Amino acid sequence: MNLHEYQSKHRFAEFGVPVPQGKVARTPQEAYEIAQEFGSPVVVKAQVLTGGRGKAGGVKLAQTPGEAQQHAENILGMDIKGHKVLRVLLDPASDIQAEIYLGVTNDRAARKPLIMASAEGGMDIEEVNRTAPDKIIREHVDPFLGLRDYQIRNLAYGINLPRELWKQFIAITRSLYRCYVESDATLAEINPLIIDGNNNLLAVDGKMSIDDNALYRHPDLAEMRDTSAEPQAETQARAAGLSYIQLDGEIGCMVNGAGLAMTTMDMTKLFGGSPANFLDIGGGAKAETVAAALRIILADPNVKAVLFNIFGGITRCDEVANGILAALGEVRTDLPMVVRLVGTNEKEGREIIDNAALPNMVTAATLADAARKAVEATKSA
Ligand code: GDP
Ligand code: MN
Repeated sequence: MNLHEYQSKHRFAEFGVPVPQGKVARTPQEAYEIAQEFGSPVVVKAQVLTGGRGKAGGVKLAQTPGEAQQHAENILGMDIKGHKVLRVLLDPASDIQAEIYLGVTNDRAARKPLIMASAEGGMDIEEVNRTAPDKIIREHVDPFLGLRDYQIRNLAYGINLPRELWKQFIAITRSLYRCYVESDATLAEINPLIIDGNNNLLAVDGKMSIDDNALYRHPDLAEMRDTSAEPQAETQARAAGLSYIQLDGEIGCMVNGAGLAMTTMDMTKLFGGSPANFLDIGGGAKAETVAAALRIILADPNVKAVLFNIFGGITRCDEVANGILAALGEVRTDLPMVVRLVGTNEKEGREIIDNAALPNMVTAATLADAARKAVEATKSA
């Protein structure tokens, strides 16, 4: 889960990273009032879950409240890389002397957190990594030893940070690292960390990604999820305990197990079709879960056929069959459906489907057979 800039900086501040005292506005009028309250030049910044807002015109400097209002009017509603701007952050403008990059991420290959710093902050750090990777100084942190002071000094030295700023830099890097660890983050990034006119370091931009699997122990972070930035179906799926990702194909897939779901998607492609979604209803799924999943699949207007691929291990095929029929009792559909049930109670499951004798539902014996039938159904639909 990604946090917005204003959320990330708020979190950073809780761990002692200096950030501007900004406020969020949803309307140009609110932007005007906030700028007036600050009584200084402000930056008006689009709050969207993507980078490169500056280049896209989503970050603007305003000298007066009227100008802030005008910028907010232009930025609100803007589309930045497919993300609609619903809020802007207003920060008192900073006097920027230099822009530094400072970030902590998870290096899976090294199985350690990785801290990176660069004097080439502000712009696209991926671009720096491509064109001049030696301008990024890297320190892996041993999770058992923790972050050592010498490592932070290596970073400060590597980016040619003036000595008088080292004390601040060490404190900020420690705070950011602690924020990363204690938030179960996979990314905590400041770009840029600026040197201002008073020779102070300040985190002007912030970005955090939180490990979804750890959100259960961070209710305060889980609450920050911006559901307006994701398809409605994904919000509903999460509430139902389903793992769902919307795609743009025509075959709605309901599968138990992530690996089997991926295979099923591949199989639809093998036979010339395309999946409308990834959906894992999980192990031991009950009838209600299946019903919730089917509602979500059928709500997608692109879906022309539904493919059920259930391997009964802990999951019982008769439970799933009942779930399918229960869901069809509520959400009626004429769409063709192909059902493949194998494993625990498959005979009972198939009997339930056969007895229901739905004109638009067929069973399939193998996955290949099921995928082929589903693709054929979309072609004749
Ligand atoms: P991003 O483009 O999405 O990464 O957004 P940033 O928050 O990093 O802003 C982009 C750029 O706008 C920064 O690199 C700065 O050069 C500039 N900027 C941001 N805040 C201020 C500010 O308070 N004062 C000034 N002068 N420039 C700013
Ligand atoms: Mn930035």
